[in-house]
Amino acid sequence: ALVVRNRMKSLGKWAKAMAIIKELEDKCGTPSAKLRQVADAMDVEMHAGLASEGGSKLKMLISYVDNLPTGGEKGLFYALDLGGTNFRVLRVQLGGSENPVVKPEFKEVSIPPHLMVGSSEALFDFIAAALAKFVATEGEDICLPPGRQRELGFTFSFPVRQLSIASGTLIKWTKGFSIKDTVGQDVVGELKKAMERIGLDMCVAALVNDTVGTLAGGRYNNPDVIAAVILGTGTNAAYVERAHAIPKWHGLLPKSGEMVINMEWGNFRSSHLPLTEYDQSLDADSLNPGEQIFEKLISGMYLGEIVRRVLCRMAEEAGFFGDTVPSKLKIPFILRTPDLSAMHHDTSSDLKVVGSKLKDILEIPNSSLKVRKVIVKLCDIVASRGARLSAAGILGILKKLGRDTIKEGEKQKSVVALDGGLFQHYTKFRNCMESTLQELLGDAYENLSIIHSNDGSGIGAAILAASHSQYLQAEES
Ligand code: BGC
Ligand code: MG
Repeated sequence: ALVVRNRMKSLGKWAKAMAIIKELEDKCGTPSAKLRQVADAMDVEMHAGLASEGGSKLKMLISYVDNLPTGGEKGLFYALDLGGTNFRVLRVQLGGSENPVVKPEFKEVSIPPHLMVGSSEALFDFIAAALAKFVATEGEDICLPPGRQRELGFTFSFPVRQLSIASGTLIKWTKGFSIKDTVGQDVVGELKKAMERIGLDMCVAALVNDTVGTLAGGRYNNPDVIAAVILGTGTNAAYVERAHAIPKWHGLLPKSGEMVINMEWGNFRSSHLPLTEYDQSLDADSLNPGEQIFEKLISGMYLGEIVRRVLCRMAEEAGFFGDTVPSKLKIPFILRTPDLSAMHHDTSSDLKVVGSKLKDILEIPNSSLKVRKVIVKLCDIVASRGARLSAAGILGILKKLGRDTIKEGEKQKSVVALDGGLFQHYTKFRNCMESTLQELLGDAYENLSIIHSNDGSGIGAAILAASHSQYLQAEES
């Protein structure tokens, strides 16, 4: 090691910076063989998580959604979508089977950062207030049948142990949230209390994870949808499992024979994951050390921060930006994934987007083309690793369902609904994920289709509120 270090010293600064990049590239490598190991490990952990509570890092949470939408759902329903940096309130008029189109109306509000780490009451008061305002300002054309209470689907994009379709306790916060007093509480109860405090009369008919909402929203339009994946601020997947393949489920066997499982794959971890020193330090400094390791390699909250950490080391040890380390570069999370995406997609010959991002965000005024090229390369290494790992995750699900190969005489279409900012706005990430699936599946790729489920999580929650409406249930029985 000493010899290596001495030799490094004698190399020029540029060579040193290149050595750091080369080392990163090697450590982030995801050849197909490695991705297959990741997919196999995912499959194994899925079995373990279904076998017993706490059987795996993969929680494989039971969603209580055992009846996916048919397209026949009808009526006026609301949804709340809380998950990443924004939160949304939606209203959806469902037209029933003759008119299954939904035109949601929504309002998006960004969550003040202090509320993500404050008290439970303050967060839920803020949400209830936005919902109350949304309802208060609706036009006279919006009306419910007389005597009927407004019903809501609550998309809550964190790990929840469901107690029923409309209740569940928070297991832990993820992403940028950390509010101690909510952990272990029923989040629907928290929301109800806040609605009471503000005097809003609404009933929560369904509590769903965003992956489950996206799956339901996808299924509403396409009966072949079998799974949903979110690639956004965080990452996760849900899929339709056969109820008798869930040994830990001791409830009644659902009529459909199926149950949607919220995998919480963000918490997956395996010795096959290509972890670097940057990932390790990012994790150690995070709000949730040791947790959500797969998510920290893939999702939008972290990609920019990984790149920042690499650049920091290059600045410190190889004078990559000159004799001093730019002070802005030392600020955690200053590089966001949209910035990364903008730089990564820069097609100008002088990489002007990279130049202006360096100037505007990091206050590095006159970057050379040489430096800018290295930065694009760095974005590519980090984003490709995330995209390829997410493809491996999807392969894991297909394996679990026996849908990763072509079966003799069977044409089994598998549709996976995707949503989230990374998928929607980071083209190179999305393309890389899709081409990796093709690489891994070979001929069986033909049977897979990846669709974008726009706003799926919110709409899906409203649809699930419809199928679990107290009124409909009363009519049926
Ligand atoms: C949460 C999941 C969620 C995902 C995508 C993760 O951090 O644990 O529940 O589905 O982010 O929003
Ligand atoms: Mg979301």
